[in-house]
Amino acid sequence: MSDPLNLLWLQSGGCGGCTMSLLNAESPDVLGCLDMAGINLLWHPSLSLETGLQVTNILNDIAAGKIKLDILCLEGSVIRGPNNTGKFHMLAGTGEPMMHWVERLSAQAEYVVAVGTCAAYGGITAAGGNPSDACGMQYDGEKKGGLLGADFRSKVNMPVVNIAGCPTHPNWVTDTLAEIALGDFSEANMDSLGRPRSYADQLVHHGCTRNEFYEFKASAEKPSDLGCMMEHMGCVGTQAHADCNTRLWNGEGSCIRGGYACINCTAPGFEEPGHNFTQTPKIAGIPVGLPTDMPKAWFVALASLSKAATPERLKKNAVADHIEVAPSIHLKNKR
Ligand code: SF4
Ligand code: SF4
Repeated sequence: MSDPLNLLWLQSGGCGGCTMSLLNAESPDVLGCLDMAGINLLWHPSLSLETGLQVTNILNDIAAGKIKLDILCLEGSVIRGPNNTGKFHMLAGTGEPMMHWVERLSAQAEYVVAVGTCAAYGGITAAGGNPSDACGMQYDGEKKGGLLGADFRSKVNMPVVNIAGCPTHPNWVTDTLAEIALGDFSEANMDSLGRPRSYADQLVHHGCTRNEFYEFKASAEKPSDLGCMMEHMGCVGTQAHADCNTRLWNGEGSCIRGGYACINCTAPGFEEPGHNFTQTPKIAGIPVGLPTDMPKAWFVALASLSKAATPERLKKNAVADHIEVAPSIHLKNKR
């Protein structure tokens, strides 16, 4: 059997939510998954026992090339402020900014993995004028660059793998790590924003339980309504790259099934859409953001046709918080 792969997990400018989410991995759980994939967790700030000097020894040994680093995961954005010193986030006990550790350790890693939209693109930490000058590992918002630079390649000649999401679905992480461990993950498995295509080749709209309402543009008008949330409630599931409605969270949920609009948390810049997250921006009554692949004129024409054909059942149910009109029953032997 080949040697296990060494994984180091660091956290910087974020809320820790991607780790919280990762702990919800089921069948198998996260530690079981790493074990099955042949991944040895060198250290994780929330899951490991080592502390203080023990940790700095591990980091120094990796930086010196004494411990092989197969996978470096960073959760949370890189904090570059103030004035590109990184001093807003010092790595405790080392007297050095986390930013420098991330650079140094990335140079030793076979694969560098950004876990979550903060680590990938800057995310929530970069919102609101970005006082900490937060950025992603290889992106600053939509722009390539970030901490490591647009041309960064890891030791196996791979760019940073961006498991974007706020937070990431646990299985987006465990699947990607398992693919890497199997030697089954290459650049061809990533989309143009560096996201694993295993989940990013889907749209959140796929499998949404509100799709029948969408077809007839039977729209929710207030929170708790059952209708499609695209027209009024800010849902961008038709543009958001993720499989949240087919893979589901905690075995059964998604933002939309919980009654919340999809805010496209896997995309760079999602944190500042320029409008209220739960309101659809419109010009002359027409939503500004339209479904992926759909020319505007077609959408407008199709939407008005489908609105004209909306069945009474969907019209009523769309603005109710429970099913008011059940689908009619068709009997085979109707006279
Ligand atoms: S637009 Fe949003 S609420 Fe409407 S069907 Fe698509 S994903 Fe569901
Ligand atoms: S439904 Fe949208 S906002 Fe919610 S987790 Fe998925 S991609 Fe993110």
